[in-house]
Amino acid sequence: MKLPTNVLNIDLARRQYRVEDRADLFQYYIGGTGVAINLLRENCPKGADPLGPDNPIIFAVGPLVGLYPLASKTVAMFKSPLTGNLGESHAGGRSAVSIRLAGYGAIMIRGASESPLYLSIKDTGVEFKDASGIWGIVSSVTTGRVVRELETGAGTRTIMRIGGAGENLVRYAMVTTETYRHFGRLGLGAVFGSKKLKAIAICGEMGLEVESRKEYRKAYDDIYHRAVESPLMRKYHDIGTSANIMPLNLLKGLPTRNLTSVSSPDAINISGEHLAEEYLGRRVSCAHCPVACIHIAGLREPYENEPYFYKTTMIAYDYELLYSLGSMLGVFDEKGLLRLIDSVELWGLDAMSTGVVLAWATEAMEKGLITEAETLGLNLKWGDSDTYSKAVEQIVKQRNEFYANIARGVEYASKIYGGEDFALAFGGNEMPGYHTGPVTHVGFLTGARHSHLDAAGYSIDQAALKDKLPDPKEAAARLLKEEVWRQILSSLVVCFFARNIYDRDTILKTLETAGHKVAPERFDRLGLEILREKNQFKLEHGFNPNALRIPKRILEIDSPHGKVQESYLKEAVEEFYRLLASE
Ligand code: SF4
Repeated sequence: MKLPTNVLNIDLARRQYRVEDRADLFQYYIGGTGVAINLLRENCPKGADPLGPDNPIIFAVGPLVGLYPLASKTVAMFKSPLTGNLGESHAGGRSAVSIRLAGYGAIMIRGASESPLYLSIKDTGVEFKDASGIWGIVSSVTTGRVVRELETGAGTRTIMRIGGAGENLVRYAMVTTETYRHFGRLGLGAVFGSKKLKAIAICGEMGLEVESRKEYRKAYDDIYHRAVESPLMRKYHDIGTSANIMPLNLLKGLPTRNLTSVSSPDAINISGEHLAEEYLGRRVSCAHCPVACIHIAGLREPYENEPYFYKTTMIAYDYELLYSLGSMLGVFDEKGLLRLIDSVELWGLDAMSTGVVLAWATEAMEKGLITEAETLGLNLKWGDSDTYSKAVEQIVKQRNEFYANIARGVEYASKIYGGEDFALAFGGNEMPGYHTGPVTHVGFLTGARHSHLDAAGYSIDQAALKDKLPDPKEAAARLLKEEVWRQILSSLVVCFFARNIYDRDTILKTLETAGHKVAPERFDRLGLEILREKNQFKLEHGFNPNALRIPKRILEIDSPHGKVQESYLKEAVEEFYRLLASE
């Protein structure tokens, strides 16, 4: 079995490319996150402007891709234009399989083009194609359709693309792939835009061979059966992550109206159960995944001037979208919410950052920090999804200074207009949808991406409701252990939903059948090494853990564990970084 060790190195300025075998990196770091952070450190100079040509974009996959179920994520790494340090975002769809079947373990894109272009990548090489005709198409969905028409042919194909938000350098613009999957967080879309890169089409046609079919089949069947028989996976299939809305609402841990509240009697309207019963049109899956957790609502509405003539819009939803554009904005009318999700999707924005920015702007307006002079006449009010949709368009178009400022994120905007106490960002990244207790917030503060996916602190808070809350030192140790383990999963590019299936022994076995034997003692140190590399990149690019801002709002509102204490957060954060440096 040939491991995916080739790195396709593309220079947009010179319109050249070369392929380099980096078996050294892949042998040691496996793939995904481990390889990407090393390529990023090698190629992104200190002080690089995130929106300048020196910021490389790296996509990396792993040795299980194309062979095993639930191992189809692509890790993107770059310097984030939102936080100014580590940008890391994962997406599924067909992206990872396409990259591997095109013969690559990683793709690195450097430099910037003077004119709009898109890339067509195959095992035969790279074509630099003029995108002047599609630059300016604001919808990431339409862009995908046009590129699909242009890039015909056999093979497994992925099309990554940006909408208007990426072109206009909104710092939390996303990259869409396969319409319903996204590199959502930390502004990869803006980095594409800064390089005049509208889209990347990757088509893979190669086959994969394994050394022992018998061993491979056995390992495959084991994972497959555990995936389809697991009750947890059943939950992801039936309702998806949006099944979390009602439990969090009941616990009083669902951030609502910019976290001025933690529950709402109207939450049922935006619950996964209600959406599945009334709107679910289809479920889709990433490549090589039997779970199909991606839920797509069919919103049937009449045309404006044709009351008996209906259009159906297919809109993907999950927990984080329902939180950020729903409860966080007080939007509990599900049709309005689906329309708002659709507009954020079309413009190509990260939904979580957009929702948190709009929630801050709404409260800032209530408090008189901003007025309709700033919002160009929009009166932002909780629950008013139509006005929020208009504000989304304004963020993308940035017609005045206010919208240009909020297009840089809530951390930046609140420094200009005030309202930092209720600007819900951690390390510069807008807050995920959990106010379950102190541990989730420690996780947002310390996670390499300041994301709920770094270490899932919310699950420690929730488990502690039946037991007792860990003290700050123990909380830090448990978060670090989980984040270290997740470096292994994301180097394998395994979906985090399968974290209970891919245990240590299963991973070592599958790696062996895939032709990648790893010494167990080295495997056990690898996650920590990778996390340290990521932290080192952050420090080199200006991150200061001692300067982390704790938004006052999270201390003011009761969580399921009562008021979150600032002293708890500070002690746990200090301990986390002490352990990271010393373990
Ligand atoms: S569980 Fe969902 S996100 Fe994970 S690989 Fe399957 S379809 Fe994709």
